[in-house]
Parts: sequence; structure tokens; C-alpha cells
Amino acid sequence: PPDQPEPDPSKKTLVILGTGWGSVSLLKKLDTENYNVIVVSPRNYFLFTPLLPSCTTGTIEHRSIMEPIRNFLRHKKSAVKYYEAEATKIDYQKKVIYVNDDSEIKGDVSSTEIPFDMLVVGVGAENATFGIPGVRENGLFLKEVGDAQKIRKRIMDCCETATFKDQSAEEVQRLLHMVVVGGGPTGVEFAGELQDFFESDLKKWIPDITENFHVTLVEALPNVLPMFSKQLIDYTEKTFKEETITIRTKTMVKNVTDKYIEAESTGPDGKKKLEKIPYGLLVWATGNALRPVVKDLMQQIPAQKDSRRGLAVNEYLVVKGTENIWAVGDCAIANYAPTAQVAAQEGAFLARLFNQMAKTEEIETELKTLSDKQDKVPNGEQRNAIFADMKELQKRLRRVKQMGPFEYSHQGSLAYIGSEKAVADISWLAGNIASGGTLTYFFWRSAYLSMCFSTRNRILVLLDWTKSKIFGRDVSRE
Ligand code: FAD
Ligand code: NAD
Repeated sequence: PPDQPEPDPSKKTLVILGTGWGSVSLLKKLDTENYNVIVVSPRNYFLFTPLLPSCTTGTIEHRSIMEPIRNFLRHKKSAVKYYEAEATKIDYQKKVIYVNDDSEIKGDVSSTEIPFDMLVVGVGAENATFGIPGVRENGLFLKEVGDAQKIRKRIMDCCETATFKDQSAEEVQRLLHMVVVGGGPTGVEFAGELQDFFESDLKKWIPDITENFHVTLVEALPNVLPMFSKQLIDYTEKTFKEETITIRTKTMVKNVTDKYIEAESTGPDGKKKLEKIPYGLLVWATGNALRPVVKDLMQQIPAQKDSRRGLAVNEYLVVKGTENIWAVGDCAIANYAPTAQVAAQEGAFLARLFNQMAKTEEIETELKTLSDKQDKVPNGEQRNAIFADMKELQKRLRRVKQMGPFEYSHQGSLAYIGSEKAVADISWLAGNIASGGTLTYFFWRSAYLSMCFSTRNRILVLLDWTKSKIFGRDVSRE
């Protein structure tokens, strides 16, 4: 059990920001005995985001895909400090971060500073709105547990309000129009889950909504899921049609009010048309934007001047223009898509790098001690023995220092598209396999189950799937 409550002055302080995919996979593999490790994140749990769309309809309960960070830390060899706080500023020259406790309960001290020798930034990204008016006030996002809970509540509220006595036909139609903006995987998966909810449960419990409940997916580009192969894009669009989800491609949302969105669509003749689309529920899933703390850090570093989408890093994930700051996941730009797969591999790479760095330092110190000792002993057997030990250590040092740069290995892309179907572009040997359908759905389920971070999560997710299959999803508004 951890037994080092106070930092060890002989060790470097490693501060890790965030408890998402990047930071947690770093923590999992990091040998914490080598550093004074401090984790700072406003979220005291890891969230398995790939299954978050299923929480919006209650196919899975949110706690089943959360894993307390304390659980990871409890199993580390050396104690790791965790502070539930948000880093508000990183001063890279002073080597200090400023943190703020933004939770409901605050003590006498709710903001302070933490010095670091080494820093890993794994704070993820914010939801992009592109400054479109009304999005933040009226739309719901899908990034965190709280977002999924809000969506679940709003779906039920729309359904119950639509069946309120004397509601006009037009208002019923509006309330039951579920609009999803953004045809990336988040939007597609959510639209699929929502249609499933309607088909298997809502229709049964609230038959009055059957005629008017409708899901529309709005995408600015000519097709959805741009990162998938053409064949799977076509398959997804065909499946959505069968599921009666409307896809509105080449339609860019420009303005949002509390009751309708204004979107500009481009017709087959190239003519642009502005239209108002009334909605009851609006889920906004148009990708990522920089967090303020990251933007501020970029502004302090001249080498980051040309970077727009995130912290530019070198092939060892060092933030360009710094020596002791690394970045992982959605806040880092290393020419890969902002996915959990990339973040997890980057985190694991940094753990290996830091473990190696500690080993290097240890060997270098040993070498220094031996060399001092060698100077003090006269020529002879003892000196030769020290010399032999030094040679051995130098060999070890060369081996340890041989760590190559980060290389991402793409395992493939997977997405659920509703009605027990999924699409998968899987990298296999030197080629690529594209598949879509029910079999892929079982592959999707087993792949995500095996990716869950703990056995506890795996069991809970399995139980939730079984529960919603047997009893249906819960339609209480809470
Ligand atoms: P995150 O996992 O977002 O973690 C960021 C962490 O930083 C959080 O703990 C947060 O609380 C913390 N934080 C935020 N601000 C601060 C601050 N100021 N100071 C300190 N800490 C802070 N990817 C896939 O590969 N496959 C999928 O199937 C998939 N499905 C997804 C489904 C959904 C609904 C979403 C939203 C994303 C999905 N992704 C998927 C993308 C994936 O979740 C992200 O790429 C991944 O989470 C990025 O990891 P990260 O560690 O950079 O950030
Ligand atoms: P995304 O960036 O992948 O897609 C956003 C979409 O919104 C784009 O297609 C864009 O054209 C569209 N858009 C932007 N502005 C618009 C507007 N005003 N009107 C209409 N459409 C607009 O975003 P995402 O789906 O949130 O995904 C974010 C990241 O997370 C991606 O890297 C994705 O690969 C990853 N992710 C992966 C999975 C999975 O693998 N199953 C699931 C979810 C997310």
C-alpha cells in the first residue's frame, strides 16, 4: 500500500493534468516510484466515452462506464496525489500551474498553485460551436456524463410535453422532432441509439407519439462519417433510411433559437436555401475546440504561434518550444485524429518514456559514483573491477536510451449505427477490412467490452445490456 504521504525531495515532481484516455493510460503503466506524481482533474473518474451515446437512452447506466480515479491510484506502488481541480493557467517559464476547485463544496482554500519539474497536459478538448449564435444556450452536447443525463431527461420531457392535453398538432410535431447536428461518429451513434429507443421502447410506452417522433441528422458536408470508407458511408446512409432517420447533408446550421435552427442547404443545382427547422431536442456534435488553458499556454510559447487546433508536439510528444512539458490526446496535435485510440497509445508511450528516463538517470548516477570511486583507488585489481562494472552499466545505458519515437498503430474505426448494426474499418495485416451489419455489431460489442478499463465495468455493462433487452429501457424522466 502507498506509504509516502510527503513528496520525496530527491525525486522530480511529475504533474499530470486530466483523467481521460491519455492521462489514465499513462498512469496505468507509469512506475510511480520514480517520481512524485500529482494528478489534477476536475473529474475524479475515468469515463469510457465510446459507450457514452448508449447512456443518453438508458441502454447503459452512466455509472457502469465510469471508473473512480482513486481505484487506479490505490493500486500504484508509490502514493500518487490527486487534486479535484481544474488547471486554470500553466506558467511554463516559472514551472507552475494554477489550480481552482470549481466543485460545489469549497474549503477556505479553493485556488492555489502547484510547481512541477515535468508536466503532462491531457485536458482533452471542448465542444466546438464555431461561434454560431444560440448553440450554447439551446443545444445539448455529448461529451461528459452530465451531458448524457441532460439528453436523457430532455428526450422524456419532449415526449411527455408533446402528449400534454390540448397541445396543437404543430407544437406536437416540433416537440417530437429530435435534431442532431454533426454527422461525425458522435452524431451518427447518438441518432442510431435514439431511433432504437423509440422503436423498442418509447413507441410501446407512449403510443401517442408514434406518428410524430422523428430523428433528423444535419451535416454540412456531402456525406456523414467522413473518416470511414465510401462503402460504409453508403451502408450507414442506407441503414438510416430504413430506420427512418432523415439525413440532411450539405446543410450547414447558421443560427439556433430555442425552438428552431436556421440552416443553409445546397440543392443539387448548387443553389443555396435558408430554412427554419423546428426542434424539440437539439444535440450538437460538431467536433472539438481548444480549451482556454491550452489556448493560453500556446500563446505563451513562440514556437506554438502557427498551431491552431492544439499543442504542436514533436515525435516524443514534447510540446514544441518547451523541454519539460508533454501533451497527449485531444489537446495535442501529432497528425492523428482526436480519438481515444490515439490518446491511449500516446499515454502508454509516455509511461514507457518516463520509466526509461528514470532508469537512465539511475544508471548515470551509479556511473558517476563508480567513476568517483575509481579515481580514488590505485591501479590494480579493485580498479579493474570498477572499470568492468562501469562498462556493463554503459552498455545498459545505451540499451535504455534506445527508445524510438512515438508511432501510432491504427487498429481501425468502429461505430454503432442503430438497429443492432455497426460499421467497422479494421486494419488487418497490411490491408483494410470494411464491414457493416449485425455481425459487426457483435464485434463492436465485444471489442468495446474488452476495451473497458476494469472487470467491474465489463460486468456492469453486460448487466445493463441484458437488463435493457429483457425489461426495456426505463422511460422515467429523471
Ligand atoms: P478526455 O478523455 O476528454 O479527458 C480529458 C480530461 O481532462 C478529463 O478528465 C477532464 O475532466 C480533464 N480536464 C478538462 N479540463 C481540465 C483542466 N483545465 N485541468 C485539468 N484537467 C482538465 N474515440 C475512439 O477512439 N473510439 C470511440 O468509439 C469514441 N467514441 C466517442 C464517443 C463520444 C460520445 C465522444 C464524445 C468521444 C468519443 N471518442 C472515441 C473520442 C475520445 O473520447 C477522445 O478522443 C478521448 O477522450 C481523448 O482523450 P483525452 O485524454 O485527450 O481527453
Ligand atoms: P467530428 O469532428 O468527427 O464531426 C463533426 C461533424 O460536424 C463534421 O462532419 C462537420 O462537417 C459537421 N459540422 C460542423 N459544423 C457544422 C454545422 N454548422 N452544421 C452542420 N454540420 C456541421 O466530431 P465528433 O463526431 O464529435 O467526433 C470527435 C472526435 O471523436 C473524432 O475524432 C471522432 O473520430 C472521435 N469519435 C470516434 C467515435 C468512434 O470511433 N466510434 C465516436 C465518437 C467520436
